[in-house]
Amino acid sequence: MTGPTARPATTAVTFPTGATTGTATVLGTRALPGGTGVLVDTTPFHPLDHSWPDQPGDTGTLVADGVIHPVVDCVTGGIGPDGAFAVGADIPVRRGDPAWRWLVVHLVDGAAPAPGRRVTLHVDDDRRAALSAAHTGCHLMALALNEALAGRWRKEVRLDGLGHPDFDGTAVAESRIDVAGTTDRYRIGTSLRKRFDTQGLREALPGLAAEINERLAGRLAQDAPVRVETPGPELTARRRWVCELPERTVGIACGGTHVRRLGELISLTVDLALSEDGGELVVVTTPKRS
Ligand SMILES: [Zn+2]
Repeated sequence: MTGPTARPATTAVTFPTGATTGTATVLGTRALPGGTGVLVDTTPFHPLDHSWPDQPGDTGTLVADGVIHPVVDCVTGGIGPDGAFAVGADIPVRRGDPAWRWLVVHLVDGAAPAPGRRVTLHVDDDRRAALSAAHTGCHLMALALNEALAGRWRKEVRLDGLGHPDFDGTAVAESRIDVAGTTDRYRIGTSLRKRFDTQGLREALPGLAAEINERLAGRLAQDAPVRVETPGPELTARRRWVCELPERTVGIACGGTHVRRLGELISLTVDLALSEDGGELVVVTTPKRS
């Protein structure tokens, strides 16, 4: 680490409010394989989470003294109790481990602004908006999928915020958000099959997709407000996606960014596919923005 602060505090983040610009002080820089990681005190940039890497890191610029430094990626970094710095998959502990300092790492290509400098941060708005639309779509899909599969549960299972058995929360193995939409992979293994009836699931997929798409279209028409609730400004705060649906306000634990109203999406549709061996259900969710 170069710079005046050897052990910066956990980064404050403003992206949960939807912010895409801000000003900050550079606390330090780190040489990384893809460029230089810039650490600041507060940022609107959303970093890829290292424990649940669903929404990609923001891109954009840091501007210091009129010099534009392109931010090509944004990842999560941590400083352990022994002072060792790690990023992304190299971090050996779970998200938010209290013994660690948690940092938003802005990866710049080329020269980085020096520690102590004031910088203006600009997130690529268009890309952020697309990722936010996809992420909101992902949560709406999860609720609609849970509802569509509700009749297949044989045993009690935890319920989602709308009171349906939480297939998404129980079976999701991977969620990947991109500007074009999301891909969610659900593991349908032996232990799930004891509780969840998979008979005829393959044949039922077209009907399930139609049911989910109809539910999603109805949700968008309701134009419910969406917000991210957070108990504090730090990167590691336990945030929640909250959507005020007419029948009930629903929340899902979430570290990402979102639209402000469901009406910002003009359509949201899913494609369902079952792997050949039936062990994995893949849901591709595609939003279109107004
Ligand atoms: Zn989320």
